[in-house]
Amino acid sequence: MIGTVHCSPPRRRVSAALAALTVATLVAGCTSGGGRAGGISGGGGAEGGPSDGEVGRAQPWEQRPVVGLQFDVAADLASVTGRETVLFTPDAPVCELVFRMWDNKPTAAQDGTSMELGEVTVDGRPVVADVVPAGAPDGVPGTLAEVPLPACVDAGTQVRAELGFSVELGEDSGERVGHAPDEELAWFATAFPLLAWVRGEGWARDPAVDMYGETVTSEDFRLDALEVTAPREYAVLGSGSPAGTEAGSSPGTTTHRFTAEALRDVSVSVGRFVVQERRVGDVALRVGTPESGSRVDGEEWTDELAYALRELEELFGPYPYPDLWASVLPPLADGVEFPSALQFGDVRRSTVSALVAHELAHMWFYSLVGNNQARDPWIDESFATYGQVLVTGREDAYRLDDVGRRVRGELGQPMEYWAEAGGFGRYVRGTYDQGAAVLLEARDRAGAERFDAAVRDYLATRAHQVVDPSEVRASFESVPELIDLLGDAGAFG
Ligand SMILES: [Zn+2]
Repeated sequence: MIGTVHCSPPRRRVSAALAALTVATLVAGCTSGGGRAGGISGGGGAEGGPSDGEVGRAQPWEQRPVVGLQFDVAADLASVTGRETVLFTPDAPVCELVFRMWDNKPTAAQDGTSMELGEVTVDGRPVVADVVPAGAPDGVPGTLAEVPLPACVDAGTQVRAELGFSVELGEDSGERVGHAPDEELAWFATAFPLLAWVRGEGWARDPAVDMYGETVTSEDFRLDALEVTAPREYAVLGSGSPAGTEAGSSPGTTTHRFTAEALRDVSVSVGRFVVQERRVGDVALRVGTPESGSRVDGEEWTDELAYALRELEELFGPYPYPDLWASVLPPLADGVEFPSALQFGDVRRSTVSALVAHELAHMWFYSLVGNNQARDPWIDESFATYGQVLVTGREDAYRLDDVGRRVRGELGQPMEYWAEAGGFGRYVRGTYDQGAAVLLEARDRAGAERFDAAVRDYLATRAHQVVDPSEVRASFESVPELIDLLGDAGAFG
């Protein structure tokens, strides 16, 4: 999600939160998308390759969960039925498994989206899950499913869970899950019960909030297989790497297969898309735009993504995945990030550059180095906005002196705080804008070369983890200018 590039309201269903954001942004001024005299070249990185200071990137957790997902998309694209298999080897004793059902969050539920849990088994035995609201509104199942184990298990003991589920996709929803009947498109991300474990910490039980933005927390898992069965006339954009197609078990359907070594979430888009394919360095980029047309055509979206990908690789080091997927979905107002996959609204030309740079920067911040997005949203949003600003050359719009009095010092606040204290507009100013201003000021004080090397080291050494504020602080000990500024902004409580 991005906060500061709206220059026009979404095409439909303008929610109160987004309407407020749009007004706030108009006051702040729109991003032109034209400014590319960015400061990246001053960063000391080698042209087009891994930068100075890059140390060997940490490998994924050896005993990370292994997940298999099967989605069956209804012929009318309005719903999905699914099956999930999870092999989980905890690093601490557990007596239950906690799965999050984020499709039942308020901003999705208000558009008619809901997720139901079906039959659940643990090690082959049927169990009854306890589904609790955890921030879900009345009328939909909760966002948190607690699955009791037949017996508690010690650290290092593998547990196998199988879950059936179904998802209603809200019509023309502005959220990460929905379908658009007129354009014959469906999209569903985080649309399965997501194992909410964090190594060394335990279950992430943070409540959903009644505000747009990401609240998901998950370790990387090995995506053993993602199988999407859909009417054969439709294109399917997935996550991870494509691994072939075959005829589906129902007549007229095709099953599309994907796999990945380490992802912490999955996004899928299905429907009448025109798909552009382009190789950018080592990355296979695929961009789906609606056959019915879009304000910015597929070629231009692909150009913008390819440009931002090269710029961000120079700044942050190699892009973390072999593949990058992007889907343009008209009802969305801006963008949402998932590992190796992005969702974008059908935005105006003037907003595309900043939106693309921001969401793509999340591949390093949130996807590669994870964080609890509900409790510590600044950890990914500050850095994603910082990357966006450097790619688009808009450093002048993110000065520490311009951070508003009402959000100053509140950088470390969780989503719950912002949902109650001013909503999405203030969340953006306090988290995205303040965080980017802190990072840009620290880069000025420390010098771009030293600062950029420290950022690349952080990404390399914390790769495939879920970090908390104390770990961010420890990673940047060599840049006291940043630690001081983050502390002043309230990042460490
Ligand atoms: Zn973001």
